Amino acid sequence: MTAAVIPSPRRIAVVGAGAVGASAAARIAERGIEVVLISAAAAGSTPVSRASFAWVNAHGKRPEQYRRLNEDGRRVHAERSDAHDTEWFARTGAEIDGVQYPDDGWVDTSAFLAAQLADLRAAGGMLRDGIAADSLDHVRELLGPVDLILVAAGAGTAALLRTVTPCPRLATSAGDDGFLARIDVDEHPLDRIRSLAGLQVRPDGPGRIAVQSLGIEAELRRTGATASVGTVWPALRAEIEGALGWRIPEDAGVRVDHAIRPHAADGLPCIGRVTQDVYVALTHSGITLAPLLAELIARDLQGDPDPRLAAFRP
Ligand SMILES: Cc1cc2nc3c(=O)[nH]c(=O)nc-3n(C[C@H](O)[C@H](O)[C@H](O)COP(=O)(O)OP(=O)(O)OC[C@H]3O[C@@H](n4cnc5c(N)ncnc54)[C@H](O)[C@@H]3O)c2cc1C
Repeated sequence: MTAAVIPSPRRIAVVGAGAVGASAAARIAERGIEVVLISAAAAGSTPVSRASFAWVNAHGKRPEQYRRLNEDGRRVHAERSDAHDTEWFARTGAEIDGVQYPDDGWVDTSAFLAAQLADLRAAGGMLRDGIAADSLDHVRELLGPVDLILVAAGAGTAALLRTVTPCPRLATSAGDDGFLARIDVDEHPLDRIRSLAGLQVRPDGPGRIAVQSLGIEAELRRTGATASVGTVWPALRAEIEGALGWRIPEDAGVRVDHAIRPHAADGLPCIGRVTQDVYVALTHSGITLAPLLAELIARDLQGDPDPRLAAFRP
């Protein structure tokens, strides 16, 4: 028996305008498919994109297919960012416990999302933000007939798919809460990403650094506290000054964002059809992977599956 051929969709709803959904919507629209992107969060930024350390890397990623996917993601970031009017990838290199990784870098997530949304509009796609869908039927009611719904709703993905698929990998889409502190410092010695025993620090544009501490995150989880300037800053300042040996001015401005890390139950990407007309795109390391996955998803929907997705199907 031959497998049924699924016709290429002509009209698609993409739910979720984070890194994954916005870039997939743009690449799909560029292939001539009518796309409507809807999103609860105002487009251009999401709580997760604001809290993300946004390090584009493949360190410690297992299994091997996942590590390679992240390496390919890093290459696609560099190529696409270089070629775009809006550059988003800063290839600063990274230093982990003294070892250099020159190809790593970080993403300005606002610039990245702005570039994807501009590409979507240029390709004729539509954006409707400020709309929280209660269900996929709600999406259909809002948008009228669509051939396929691509669910890229980050931590909200499992709730939207609960009645659609029993897939155990999609039993949850919410991982640990994490935070990012942005610190305004006129002068600092950081020219690359640095990772030292759970403290990760990088430049964040002129006059600002971005920091995350896995140790402080774990302590917040233990005590049940939420990351904020009040709960994080005194310990974080001491950790940065101790690890890097430089003093942060007393009056430095500090902002703390926190968000849940979206991912599937097993922590690996979950990319593909869950039914004939519903497709899921859920992953951790979504900043590193978004531009690559967007290309692979757009091809997949037109019957050109990439072997790199085979290990990550729902
Ligand atoms: C603290 C932290 C540090 C991180 N560090 C890194 C890192 O260094 N490198 C890296 O590659 N990745 C990192 N990540 C992960 C990365 O940031 C995420 O994987 C990526 O941003 C997720 O993008 P997304 O589009 O899947 O989800 P989101 O950005 O959460 O977007 C989901 C979208 O779906 C919408 N939505 C949800 N539910 C609904 C609904 N019912 N109806 C309508 N819209 C809905 C939301 O409004 C939003 O627009 C980190 C994440 C965190 C939290």
